[in-house]
Amino acid sequence: MVKINISILGSTGSIGTQALEVVDDLKGIKDITVKSISGNKNIKLLEMQARKYNPSIVAVSDESLAKELKIKLSDTNSKVLSGECGLIEAATIESVDMVLSSIVGFAGLVPTVKAIEAKKDIALANKETLVTAGKLFMDKIKENGVRLLPVDSEHSAIFQCLEGNRERNIRKILLTASGGPFFGLEREDLVNIKKEDALKHPNWSMGAKITIDSATLMNKGLEILEAKWLFGVDIDDIEVVVHRESIIHSMVEYEDLSVIAQLSMPSMKHPIQFAFTYPKREASPDERLSLADIGRLTFFKPDRDVFKCLSLAEYAGRVGGTMPTAMNAANEIAVAKFLRDEIGFLEIAEFVESVMSKHKVIENPSLEDILSVNNEIRNSGN
Ligand code: NAD
Ligand code: MG
Repeated sequence: MVKINISILGSTGSIGTQALEVVDDLKGIKDITVKSISGNKNIKLLEMQARKYNPSIVAVSDESLAKELKIKLSDTNSKVLSGECGLIEAATIESVDMVLSSIVGFAGLVPTVKAIEAKKDIALANKETLVTAGKLFMDKIKENGVRLLPVDSEHSAIFQCLEGNRERNIRKILLTASGGPFFGLEREDLVNIKKEDALKHPNWSMGAKITIDSATLMNKGLEILEAKWLFGVDIDDIEVVVHRESIIHSMVEYEDLSVIAQLSMPSMKHPIQFAFTYPKREASPDERLSLADIGRLTFFKPDRDVFKCLSLAEYAGRVGGTMPTAMNAANEIAVAKFLRDEIGFLEIAEFVESVMSKHKVIENPSLEDILSVNNEIRNSGN
């Protein structure tokens, strides 16, 4: 049986917990040892995961919660570490082959970069890292000769559509979008939207930040930039298609006008498993796709007048340099404000646009430049 040692950064989140289910599903097919896990605050879940998977390292961001967990796990072999140093240690353990980067937001950047430098293959769920530091990230992947396997369902789909077509004569990438909970609404309908409404996604159950991003369509904007870096295509060669059923996870149109699509039921366990077993396709206990039961697949153009984040992200991608870093930081702040009921739904895009309009772009930014732009925007009284 093929053996692999993995580290899961963000094991308490939506992706992290589903990744551990995939580890269980693959028992008897692929021997996956979980060497490290990490979480921000949920030490109850981390304790349960540590007792079940017996990792060498458990990293907790919060210092005092780490102390608490250390006492709870004192009868186990797991070492409890805290802060960013702890995360970096979890990401770079010598015996680890692959790191699943599933922390949400900018906080995932440094540990993921350190994992690449430690020559770990990366299964990437955290799209914000590619958005904020795309060129640097892809250069590091190349320099260190490691594999980068997309876990975002659309990008896993595109990756799968490219398999066997290595000549890469891509004409267009068709990035599908569910349209989120507010599909078909007008701007005036969105003025008084409450976070409870925005947190209800029609097809996927995900962490709060990405669920709000899906409602504003910033998630699709971030995914455009993610696709640009992962597949080396121009922003103009990526077309967003609203597909309410989330059955086609994305498509690639080739120069000969053939369009190849990847279909499956909407489950993140599919792309996670594919990243863990690639290049093999192993059996999955997930629900099978029955097209006759679904009956109809529909497609629409996105409404850019209502969902302004889409065009903001495309603009940031065209400008390049640190503009996507500024956009991402502004979006993380705006989503957090919306979740605290401090701003309205439509103000998320307005806030992002205003930060972007003031940003002085640094071309070809270093990691230090990216960290400092991110910090400046976060500390600028926003
Ligand atoms: P989540 O909120 O459910 O989980 C986030 C994880 O990151 C948790 O383990 C949390 O403890 C950890 N975390 C949060 N802030 C942290 C910090 N400051 N320092 C260290 N750890 C921190 O999020 P999620 O939905 O699992 O999403 C994770 C990433 O995967 C995001 O970048 C998201 O865009 C991407 N993604 C998620 C899905 C999905 O279906 N959930 C699909 C595609 C891509
Ligand atoms: Mg996605």
